[in-house]
Amino acid sequence: MKKNLLRIALAGNPNSGKTTLFNALTGAHHQVGNYPGVTVEKREGTRMRGDRSYHFIDLPGIYSLTAYSLDEVVTRDFILDEKPDLIIDVLDSTNLERNLYLCLQMQELGIPVVGALNMSDEAEARGVRIDEGQLSATLGIPLAKITANRGLGIDLLLDKIDECCPESREGGPRPGRTLNYGAEIEEWLGKIESLIASGQGTAGAGAEARFLAAKLLEKDKDAAARLAGKAGSDAVLAAAKEGIAWIEKHYGKDAEIVISEQRYGYIHGAVKEAVEVVQKPNFMLTEAVDRVIMNRFLALPIFVVILWCVFQLTFEIGAYPQAWLETFFGFIGDLLNSHLASGPLRSLLVDGVIAGVGGVFSFVPLIVLLFFFMSILEDVGYMSRAAFATDKLLHSFGLHGQSVFPLMLGFGCSVPAVLSSRTLKSTRDRIVTVLVTPMMSCGAKLPVYLLFSAAFFPDNAANIVMLIYACGVVLSLACSALLKATVLKGDPTPLVMELPPYRSPTLGGALWHVWEKLCSYIKKAGTVILACAILIWAITNYPVYEPTQEETAALEAACLAETPDATEDVINAYVETALALEKLEHSIAGDIGRFIEPVFSPLGFNWKMSVAAITGFAAKEVVVSTLGILYRAGTEEDEDSAGLRKALTADPDMRPINAFTFMLFILLIPPCFAALSVIKAELGWKWLGFEWLFLLLLGWTAAFIVFQLGIMAGL
Ligand code: GDP
Ligand code: MG
Repeated sequence: MKKNLLRIALAGNPNSGKTTLFNALTGAHHQVGNYPGVTVEKREGTRMRGDRSYHFIDLPGIYSLTAYSLDEVVTRDFILDEKPDLIIDVLDSTNLERNLYLCLQMQELGIPVVGALNMSDEAEARGVRIDEGQLSATLGIPLAKITANRGLGIDLLLDKIDECCPESREGGPRPGRTLNYGAEIEEWLGKIESLIASGQGTAGAGAEARFLAAKLLEKDKDAAARLAGKAGSDAVLAAAKEGIAWIEKHYGKDAEIVISEQRYGYIHGAVKEAVEVVQKPNFMLTEAVDRVIMNRFLALPIFVVILWCVFQLTFEIGAYPQAWLETFFGFIGDLLNSHLASGPLRSLLVDGVIAGVGGVFSFVPLIVLLFFFMSILEDVGYMSRAAFATDKLLHSFGLHGQSVFPLMLGFGCSVPAVLSSRTLKSTRDRIVTVLVTPMMSCGAKLPVYLLFSAAFFPDNAANIVMLIYACGVVLSLACSALLKATVLKGDPTPLVMELPPYRSPTLGGALWHVWEKLCSYIKKAGTVILACAILIWAITNYPVYEPTQEETAALEAACLAETPDATEDVINAYVETALALEKLEHSIAGDIGRFIEPVFSPLGFNWKMSVAAITGFAAKEVVVSTLGILYRAGTEEDEDSAGLRKALTADPDMRPINAFTFMLFILLIPPCFAALSVIKAELGWKWLGFEWLFLLLLGWTAAFIVFQLGIMAGL
């Protein structure tokens, strides 16, 4: 190990502010959120001070070193296997007793621990006074009061770190004292410890041996697994078994409970001495607001109303910048049209790139707003309430209250949504949640709904979009009930989670969150979508179709037959439009469309929509740009989405029912490649294959039923 490089792990309870502190320490901008389980993977970053560099690792939150869920395993394995030089235990000062439970266990590891008393501002506001000197003396670890979200106390914290590691670990003071479990239990611990140490035969194992010994007495399976196979492990496990039996006989309780009671007893004493609650404010905002928002009868309606408001606001406000962007891209298109000679290059730029990528860009404002409102809701602390508000409902569909995070995040993007399902403790709950998450309509599908609802349901656009979202929610619930009743049978686990306090959202945080999402959206627009747009343009323009003299003459005659008094301009326009359509039908896209049309015609899609639907399997953003290219081929002057709307409504094949069916199909078909790859990573190939086929069948069947019923009803 290099002398001046310290590897420091940030550990602590969920929602204690680890990521906020990590960002403050390293200048990174990782997502923080006012609910547990935001960080599911570890992240690393470095800070320099003097000639020392501090390498920080942000870990998912845990309550105990006995790991249950996947994100907890990430943290535990990191600490046990990679052995950081030091651990910063991020403690929520407003909830010290619970936070210190983890602290005591980490001290047993023999790695120096520094406590960061975070949320000092909130503790102060609540009249909680912590004597950190006293507490530090009791616990035997250095403590620093900090307020991570305002960057206060960072230097003090670094000083405390330096104190622990003046030059290198060898030279520093030994880690602080550890809790004494009482004479009898200590005797057992000592016995097991020395057996472990002698078996491993390494001098440094001493401190960790104590941790393992305590874990064994807690009946921790992972600890036993870690020892298995090592020299002398049989003797260790036998001693542990004996110890457990003795404790249970002597105390008349489960050994696990006895050990944890010892820890809590110790913490209670330490906190009683060092923490004073000066005056408890008699008016607690959080409690007062929760009395209304978490009311048994009101919670669910309030949840629905809040979501409804978010959607309305997004569309009302977003319509303005969207119109500006459309005008802007229209202007660029005009400019190119008038400055470039007619030919393949102009066609590629105007009909391919501008029509494809421009169409996608004009939805940026709506996506920004939706993410912004979602991240505000999350920051304020509403998301955890939403979990409780919907827990009962979700339970009756075989889901879990905590499934609500992945599901809500699914409205933004399935990729983080699928990742966030790791907080679920039961594997079955987790699989079901991942499988139904793609039905929560993601941001990339939104442009499709916006386009079709504005074109075909101009008076009810927002309501139709809501309806599609509602279809997604209802179907995802129905499917999870189905999955839970068939392939994933099992009892649901109860929701155990605490509600974070309401906090005023930080504008900076929300903007960063939005910026991150926006960048990835734009990156996608600049790469995948650009490539797709060019490909679609190519297959719609090639092979080049040259009309014969007779064809042109026949078209002119047809025009005159329809409108005998047509001027030359009108005739020319008529011929041009008809020829463009002809050209399209002779192109590769036309061939593909006709080839797949039989699959889609029962759903009411013509060949152009069929091609667009196919592109949706790669990424949903491409659907609109494909339609833009396919539908604009026949019209000269339109480059904005108002033009596309007109072209769509002018298509005789398209009625509102076709539009609705198409939206439903796009909602339900398998997610984009990016989402598929995380599903594969989380659940493996088998479930990925299942998911893909399941969604394909579901999307087709639902669209088929709705379309056929609609036709029967004469829509
Ligand atoms: P993690 O789950 O431990 O990574 O916690 P986060 O870093 O995501 O923070 C949880 C919430 O606490 C966020 O809403 C933060 O803005 C907020 N927060 C973090 N540190 C402080 C602090 O010192 N004071 C206050 N009032 N809020 C904080
Ligand atoms: Mg975090």
